[in-house]
Order: sequence, then structure tokens, then C-alpha cells
Amino acid sequence: MIFAANFKMNHTRASTAAYLDRLEAILKAAEYPFKVMVFPPATALQPSREWITVGVQNAYPAESGAYTGEIGLSQLAEFGIDTVLVGHSERRNLLGESQEFIAEKFGYFADKGLQIVYCVGEPLEVRESGFEAVAEYLWEQFDGIDLDYERLIVAYEPVWAIGTGRAASVEEIAATHAELRRRIGRPLLYGGSVKPSNIAEIGAVTDVDGVLVGSASLDPESFHAMMIAMAPPQV
Ligand code: PEP
Repeated sequence: MIFAANFKMNHTRASTAAYLDRLEAILKAAEYPFKVMVFPPATALQPSREWITVGVQNAYPAESGAYTGEIGLSQLAEFGIDTVLVGHSERRNLLGESQEFIAEKFGYFADKGLQIVYCVGEPLEVRESGFEAVAEYLWEQFDGIDLDYERLIVAYEPVWAIGTGRAASVEEIAATHAELRRRIGRPLLYGGSVKPSNIAEIGAVTDVDGVLVGSASLDPESFHAMMIAMAPPQV
């Protein structure tokens, strides 16, 4: 199972380092059978740890160049970063990234062999229009994306569940992941208000291979509580 923490625009360089130290100590002691990833802000990037893959929340599809405010692969290489989030709804909706640009990023990072956590998710009005509309909307978010890319991880994150405290129901997650599984053989994560109190039921859903967690990952003890819920320590 994959546990991925998306800090978004939270944590500083110092607090990220302290977080990774604490999480590393937890993981070392517990030896969980989980793959753990942390996506801090770009200013707090640092090399991955033995038990933790550090990824970047966003990057520009170029090695380097005249792209003011962006970071490219040569900046990421300095930290040994080779995992990138692509297509998060906040970048699609708040920062105006088009499907065309997202597919361009995907193609560039895939060409370079990066591990890509690719996010899709429908807004509330689409969910309320019924499951067929949801499926159609989600598949459109895969336009231009190579579903067979071997370092692809897909995160299904309904927009209405992100940061709202209202996760999708297990039935909604099961049906959506089953739909995605028809064409995607790579790991499928669920994201959207995952927390210690609902991780066990969400993690038990068929075709949920892991979770992408925002708010409830910001405190390493809360992130750890979710791991404990999925793998209670042996006594
Ligand atoms: C996210 O934005 O990736 C996310 C899942 O956020 P939250 O857990 O806060 O809903």
C-alpha cells in the first residue's frame, strides 16, 4: 500500500526537515510494508530518505531555461528528486493548467523516466449528474496520457472531497476505482479528506492501492495514525 503526503503550500524548509526526521524514525522502528512518499513545497525539497520518497508537487517540462518562477529537471536533480505530481485539481482549477499542458508535462517527465503521480477527479456537479458523467469526465482527464507508462501511479481525487472533510463513500470509491481499473494496470490511489478515522474503510476497498493525503498528513503523528490503522502493530 502507498501512503503519499501532499503538503501543498504548508510547512517550511525547517519544519519539513523535522517532519522527515520524525517520520523516518517512525518508519524505521515499525518496518511497515508500505511505500511512503512526501511532497513538500519546492523550497523544502531535499533528497529522499531510506524509507521515504521525497517528490515535487509541480515542475516545468524543461531541463532549465527562461521560465520565470518555475523549476525544471536540473533544479530537481540537485536534490535527486525523480517523483512528480501532475494534474492535481488545484493546479488544474486554481492555476489554470489545461489538459493539453498537463499532457505535455506528463510526456516530458515520462520521457525522462520520472515516477509520476497523476491526479484526476470530478467536480461536484459532475458527480451529481450520475456515474456515466463521472466516468466520461475522468477519462477525458487522461487525454494524451500514456496509461501503460511503467512509472505511473494514478490518484483519483474527487474535487468535492479535497479539503472539505467529506470523503467519497466506499461505494463511490469502489465504483470509480473499478472503472479506472478497466484500463489502468498501475497503482490507484484515492485522495480527498482521508484521515485516521476513515482510512481503514477506504484502504480496504478493492482496487485502492494507497492514499494521497493532504490536511491529515501535515502532522507526522496523524500520518502515522493512518498507517497504524492499516497495519496494527503486532503484540
Ligand atoms: C489533496 O489535495 O491531494 C488532498 C487529498 O487533500 P485533503 O486530504 O486535505 O482532502
